[in-house]
Amino acid sequence: MKCVDAFRSREITAPLVEEIARVLTRPVRIMEVCGTHTMSIFRHGIRSLLPEGITLLSGPGCPVCVTPAGHIDAFLAAARLPQVTIATFGDLIRVPGSEGSLAEARAQGARVEIVYSPMDALTLARQQPERTVLFAAIGFETTAPTIAATILQAERLGVDNFLIITALKTMPQALEALLADPELRIDGLLCPGHVSAIIGSDAYQPFAERHRLACAVTGFEPADILAGLLGLIRQISEEQPRVDNCYTRAVSAAGNIKAQRLIDTVFEPVDSEWRGLGPIPGSGLALRDAYQRFDAIKRLSLCVPPAHDPKGCRCGEILKGRLLPPQCSLYGTACTPLRPIGPCMVSNEGTCAAYFRYSGHK
Ligand code: SF4
Repeated sequence: MKCVDAFRSREITAPLVEEIARVLTRPVRIMEVCGTHTMSIFRHGIRSLLPEGITLLSGPGCPVCVTPAGHIDAFLAAARLPQVTIATFGDLIRVPGSEGSLAEARAQGARVEIVYSPMDALTLARQQPERTVLFAAIGFETTAPTIAATILQAERLGVDNFLIITALKTMPQALEALLADPELRIDGLLCPGHVSAIIGSDAYQPFAERHRLACAVTGFEPADILAGLLGLIRQISEEQPRVDNCYTRAVSAAGNIKAQRLIDTVFEPVDSEWRGLGPIPGSGLALRDAYQRFDAIKRLSLCVPPAHDPKGCRCGEILKGRLLPPQCSLYGTACTPLRPIGPCMVSNEGTCAAYFRYSGHK
């Protein structure tokens, strides 16, 4: 705790804020890609510390938020099958699909269990041999290695009643798609810390070189975030885009090679649909041929139907940094954390939820 306190202390953060104000030479727009950064920025009141002229936008880094409604519908269809138990992370359970949420399906009798890791889901499968346990595999490069490790463990143990539906996604391809959007105006990218721990800071070099975009990898404490912002603003002021790694205690240039190998052993890149961003080539992870027996879509004859966002919900534009939550007409009225309409209000890492919780609902 003492160690964390140092990253929150005024002695460290105040000089960073002063230096940011000193090096800022023009208005800048910075996107924080990661949902955990969004929450941390709000929780620690970082927006209020910054000088005028710095606009912070949230990006597509909340895994629950970018999972399209079609996948929620597929999880729901599986939940309604007899003998199937859905195992899922807690956030996903309240996200509405076309016909309700997993929480509503559970209230109507479906077996839906909240787990804290995919290994917990595998344990559940071993405890319930008479049922099929289906893990809803959502997330980015951060969660993909543990899911890959779980598949390998299931194979080693010969577990036949453990399946997954993968909606796993990879971040660099989504950032490429985002930066190709002519309507997106950003000067810098606060790169996602957890994802970067796996893929490494070198993964952002193409954005600095090809897109001339300032990039900074950073952690989640106030001093981390302010150091990342300072690095970005220096790059922008000097017109020298590069990748600053301000999170060297967790992120190396090459990333976690062992975790990358795990992902590569079990999964292969496929095109994937993102809520708000649409289909993005090579941005999803599907089970390789050798692990098809764990694919619930095939084993249970399910499909991922095309589905639309809830009527009036602007999550798609919020995930692309085009809108802020208060610009959605449902924000704080029809849509609140108690009665969420879109995933950005459900998830702990969702931008609408962060605004609602920390901005006085305005
Ligand atoms: Fe969707 Fe609710 Fe956010 Fe509006 S406030 S964009 S309805 S989640």
